[in-house]
Amino acid sequence: MQLIFEKSVKERRGVRLPKGCSYEKAKFPEKYSRKKALNLPEVSELDVVRHYSNLSKMNFSVDTNFYPLGSCTMKYNPKFTEKVAKLEGFLNLHPLLPQLIGGGMLTQGSLEVVYRTEHLLCEITGMEAFTMQPLAGAHGELTGAMIIAAYHKQQGRKRKFVIVPDSSHGTNPASAAIAGYEVIVVPTDETGCMDLTLFKEKLNEDIAAVMLTCPNTVGVFNPQIKEICDAAHKVGALVYYDGANLNAIMGKARPGDIGFDIVHVNLHKTFATPHGGGGPGAGPVGVNAKLKEFLPIPQIVKRSDGTFALRYNRPKSIGFMAPFNGNFSVILKSYAYIMLLGKTGLIKVSEMAVLNANYCRVLLEKHFKIAYDRICMHEFVISAQPQKEKGASALDIAKYLIEKGIHPPTVYFPLIVKEALMIEPTETESKETLDSFVEVMIEIAKLIEKDPQQLSDVPRNTPVTRLDETKAARDLNLRWKSE
Ligand SMILES: *Cc1c(COP(=O)(O)O)cnc(C)c1O
Repeated sequence: MQLIFEKSVKERRGVRLPKGCSYEKAKFPEKYSRKKALNLPEVSELDVVRHYSNLSKMNFSVDTNFYPLGSCTMKYNPKFTEKVAKLEGFLNLHPLLPQLIGGGMLTQGSLEVVYRTEHLLCEITGMEAFTMQPLAGAHGELTGAMIIAAYHKQQGRKRKFVIVPDSSHGTNPASAAIAGYEVIVVPTDETGCMDLTLFKEKLNEDIAAVMLTCPNTVGVFNPQIKEICDAAHKVGALVYYDGANLNAIMGKARPGDIGFDIVHVNLHKTFATPHGGGGPGAGPVGVNAKLKEFLPIPQIVKRSDGTFALRYNRPKSIGFMAPFNGNFSVILKSYAYIMLLGKTGLIKVSEMAVLNANYCRVLLEKHFKIAYDRICMHEFVISAQPQKEKGASALDIAKYLIEKGIHPPTVYFPLIVKEALMIEPTETESKETLDSFVEVMIEIAKLIEKDPQQLSDVPRNTPVTRLDETKAARDLNLRWKSE
């Protein structure tokens, strides 16, 4: 594609355009121009306000209801960070500015925010360098897997396989496969950890990497990760830390110190950005010293005069992973969040997230079967198999919870637990909220004992007053009906 810029832009900015771009007057092709005016809806301000106010009331969100959706860390996002993101100097920046005029004063502040956030993440995770480009956790994993491939290519040995435990997040094997690897799955033992003996049997010089979700999807932090890292390194494999669950361990353990080579973190989960409905997000990737040169371009550098610039000239880089510099507003909000809470605040976040999960787990263990019932991290998994045998499934429980104004936990995931309900209360919930959730769950358990049919009948017989999200997703219609 050829980019064409108008002359006036050149003259005003006095910049040299990248190769392949020219300054000819941009011409809009005649065949695409509209022949008659667009039929846009004309409504009064009041109608618009009512429309959106009513829509927002139909929405189920962390701002309105308890949202213990395991693995997703649906914590409350302080409005302070939204305020920072709305600061005019950030809000009105054009994304083309940093690429064309890296050292321009308009962009210095935003470059500094990204640079500083990178360094804060290095400190939090113990890694050497970060890229802020990936736009989601899974995108970070793909970036990581591509860095793994670039590293082994340089080492001169093509390796074919990536090992993942069956308790890992589903995106891990998917990312490895997209990067061209075959996936070897290692089962989980009775303690909720990857079976170490079976893992060691699979290790050999054809293994490119081991991807571990820590804590894993059953809420267990594997105490043998150091041993796993060492064993993998011994055969020349790299170790990848899926840090989407960082909310459980901030300030307590650092993947870099343990020996991990690559880590991704989910800014939208751990550091303030509302992310229901699939976005927006950011999945920065951190690496240790030996992988630094493979990070995507551009990289933000601080010059000796204290200014910031985007560096493109990095021959071993895996290249661009996203346009511009990632999801800037998400990075900005995370920066504000980290600065607001500080070191002690972040440690408290993790402590409270773990405490809240354990509080609910202990109150519920008399009424439900907890998979891998031990002190958990930020989340735990209920197996509703006993309830299913009585006639009400995990899905029935989830639907009943919706009727009670509670967002259901993640259901039927992880796959290794039958009738799974994965509960992550997060640190932002009060004891009162947790107590009322537990109360509803106990009411459910008792109802199933007495009359499982009634439990599944309630959602079936209740008229739907909320937004039908499934219909909205499957039968999307954004066209304005003028007739
Ligand atoms: C959420 C999550 C991911 C994927 O992150 P996205 O931003 O949804 O792509 C990966 N791993 C774990 C453990 C997660 O919880």
